[in-house]
Amino acid sequence: MCSSFDVSARADGALDASPARRALWNVRSHEVATIVCPTCGAARRAPCRTLWDRPTTALHRGRTIRYVKMRFALDLVEPHERPVRFQAGPALAGVGLKATRVPHLQPWRLPLHELADLVNVSFLDLAKVVTAHACGLQRTGLDELLFGPDHVEQSIDALTYAMHDRQIRREVRILSGGGHREVEDLATQERAVRDRLRDAERRLKGQRIAELTAAGILPFPAATNDSRRLARAWLGRYLPEEKETLVRRLAADAGVAPSATIHIRSIPEKITRCIDNGWLAAPLTDAVRQLLELDGPAFRRRIVADAALQDARDDALCHPLVLNRWRDQLTEVLAEMAPSADNPHTKHLHDLTLTRRPRSTTQLGQLHGRRRLFAALLQRRSESIRLITALNDGMSLAERRDPSYELLKKAGDQAYDELVRRHPDLYRHIRTHLARYETRYGRLQLTEPRAQLRARIYDELDRMRAAHLASTTHR
Ligand SMILES: [Zn+2]
Repeated sequence: MCSSFDVSARADGALDASPARRALWNVRSHEVATIVCPTCGAARRAPCRTLWDRPTTALHRGRTIRYVKMRFALDLVEPHERPVRFQAGPALAGVGLKATRVPHLQPWRLPLHELADLVNVSFLDLAKVVTAHACGLQRTGLDELLFGPDHVEQSIDALTYAMHDRQIRREVRILSGGGHREVEDLATQERAVRDRLRDAERRLKGQRIAELTAAGILPFPAATNDSRRLARAWLGRYLPEEKETLVRRLAADAGVAPSATIHIRSIPEKITRCIDNGWLAAPLTDAVRQLLELDGPAFRRRIVADAALQDARDDALCHPLVLNRWRDQLTEVLAEMAPSADNPHTKHLHDLTLTRRPRSTTQLGQLHGRRRLFAALLQRRSESIRLITALNDGMSLAERRDPSYELLKKAGDQAYDELVRRHPDLYRHIRTHLARYETRYGRLQLTEPRAQLRARIYDELDRMRAAHLASTTHR
């Protein structure tokens, strides 16, 4: 354990049950599962589904939040923003409704099944548990619970929150002349959490690579050094529309559904195709549609409002069709906010204590609030990037697993051959050009960047075609 973890835990707002936190409800996963999930569309009493439609023991936050709001008509707010005032739980009547016992001071001591339930429904309790774990807490089954495939991403998110939380509180203590011991404890926890975070990120990457490798997507095939294959590929790339039409016709002949061969011109089209084919479990709900229709300023207000709440989540932002906009707008908001949060850049939370500037208590208080929000936006951006990565993996895996994949691959291969038959002059020209780089027949050793060489060849092909067109119109 970190030095005096339990002692510092008691002086620690996010770790102990400060009066403001006593009004939490004990919500159980099986209760949350009594409503349809707004994120993945899982039916009542059914487990949530991952993006690639596999059941997961984790619950989507949107489902938990909606459940809590429906049942208790509550607005969950950040503990450090919550008024410090004891609120008794409303008297609840009815089957399955119960006000909770006071949350455990140290939730990691709960029986494992209760703990599993708690981290599913309460982000801030998850943050407590991952922090304790990072600081050395060991327990049978805890590692798997927090960092197994179902929960690793939520735990990374919680660790990011905990890391920023420790850093900001350490900064405030130092800048307001706080006790040395307290600062030391916060710094130790911050380091431990940071190390665990990096470790969890490595683990997640390992899981991704294992999954992509098992599916045959990784390792990416090396660029071909066969001049015939390369010439064929470059010809296809030179005539993209003709190639697409050919592929689609050949695929249709082989029995591939048109929805699987639809031509993709943009990322949203690609995502929509995956959803339409049932390859991704991401229903387009009204909430998502409304979000997609928001104008710039309204969208930005929405993402700032989401970042300001830790225990609540705007799950619609995680929809595949919203993700890229979310990430880009987060980066813009971060860039705008950086000066007022006294952060020289938007990459990570800069250590404020490295450059000491005298500040009044009021100034420090304001800065503290702004840095909390800035940190929360950084945390959301990391999350959006993880979700985009998962989405891209998911689309690759889904396409690969669909029976149309092999048929399309074969159709692509035939389309290239057909293009060579239709345009022998263009093909020959590419081959002649590539022959200069052959070490033996058909074997290439390129001495200049491929893209550069390709651009030069395409210029020549353009001239050939222009000359050809001119001669045919003369006749
Ligand atoms: Zn769900």
